[in-house]
Amino acid sequence: MSKIEMKTPLVEMDGDEMTRVLWHLIKEKLILPYVDLKTEYYDLGLQHRNETKDHVTIDSAHATKKYGVAVKCATITPNRQRMEEYPELTEMWKSPNATIRGILDGTVFRTPITLGCIKPTVRTWKEPITIARHAYGDVYKAAELLTEEPGECRLVFKGESGKESEVAVHKVKGPAVWLAQHNTDKSIRSFAASCFRYAIDSKQDLWFSTKDTISKTYDGHFKEVFEKEFENHKADFEKLGIEYFYTLIDDAVARVVRSKGGFIWACKNYDGDVMSDMVSSAFGSLAMMTSVLVSPDGKYEYEAAHGTVTRHYYKYLKGEKTSTNPIATIFAWTGALKKRGELDNTPQLVEFAEKLEKASLDTLQTGTMTTDLTGLVEHGFKAKAVNSWDFIDAIATRL
Ligand code: NAP
Ligand code: MG
Repeated sequence: MSKIEMKTPLVEMDGDEMTRVLWHLIKEKLILPYVDLKTEYYDLGLQHRNETKDHVTIDSAHATKKYGVAVKCATITPNRQRMEEYPELTEMWKSPNATIRGILDGTVFRTPITLGCIKPTVRTWKEPITIARHAYGDVYKAAELLTEEPGECRLVFKGESGKESEVAVHKVKGPAVWLAQHNTDKSIRSFAASCFRYAIDSKQDLWFSTKDTISKTYDGHFKEVFEKEFENHKADFEKLGIEYFYTLIDDAVARVVRSKGGFIWACKNYDGDVMSDMVSSAFGSLAMMTSVLVSPDGKYEYEAAHGTVTRHYYKYLKGEKTSTNPIATIFAWTGALKKRGELDNTPQLVEFAEKLEKASLDTLQTGTMTTDLTGLVEHGFKAKAVNSWDFIDAIATRL
């Protein structure tokens, strides 16, 4: 067959450790034989980030702004331990995901890949639940105080105009703890814009939840911004037959557990942090979770939700063929290829990506899988554990 043509390049962000090994295997075995792959390649591996003083990360984000679609491999975020492991590092470089998100101003949507032979812990869930976490502000950028004596705490805002606003927090008779948090109108608006855009893109209902009955001004503002944004998209929602649904966070939690799934749940920063871990473990494995960063103006960066799988990489370096699950990384590629195909109006590319997804899922459904999944399958289902190389070969054969 002749290879499938691409009109516009994808931004390809290479990464680290075990996922970097899988990355090249996926390209070689599953994509390059069929697609005349056009990418603009950025090596976000830690060594190259260090050599370029992390400019490569910034450049890759700007390229995503230019081309609109990126696919990213998991990358190491250096910490103190990594600084010892890689003595050549000249700085503890920032998380690439934080840098890219900062430049694209996007929201991350995480969706589990579901399988018939692995039932979610919650019996009623039939379709995946996508969590959209607002990744700015609130308790993650808060000021905190511990005080030892009786007194009063006040919250003061000094405007550049000279105008001040002030409110009493509380008077205490003894030691106390305090917290002041903030968010910006701009960040809440782009969060809302990304959520409505992604709901329309993926043709799913959008749920949003806060505690505005208690936090009338703060959470109330989130609610209002979302309502305003919904007004802009009402016609699209009606046309697609999808809904925007607002409810209190505690009601949302109860409804999510009783739901069939198949919707997007937009969460404030802390709720999203907690609920995404709950939802992902209830669906099965972190290795089956995909993630896409969507900017308010419609740029997309696809990746696996997991990290570089360091423990497996060290076994690989010792010569072991590890059984590391490549599914989320394959789906990052197919997500990006599908989006590229949609934007470029190249249906063959979309069709190829769908076939690759189907070949991957069918391989799993016939029982050929990596060891992280064999322990999760339904009682009585015959599963055969294979290493990543044999697993990818099995997908290639089916494809
Ligand atoms: P991790 O790489 O996600 O791995 C944690 C554990 O989860 C693994 O040791 C493995 O468990 C299991 N696991 C994750 N993905 C798997 C897969 N595809 N197949 C099979 N098992 C899988 O998280 P981490 O060890 O905390 O972080 C490692 C590095 O990744 C860190 O340097 C961190 O900075 C980076 N990271 C990057 C991103 C990103 O780029 N988006 C996200 C998170 C972390 P077993 O060992 O029990 O098999
Ligand atoms: Mg968390």
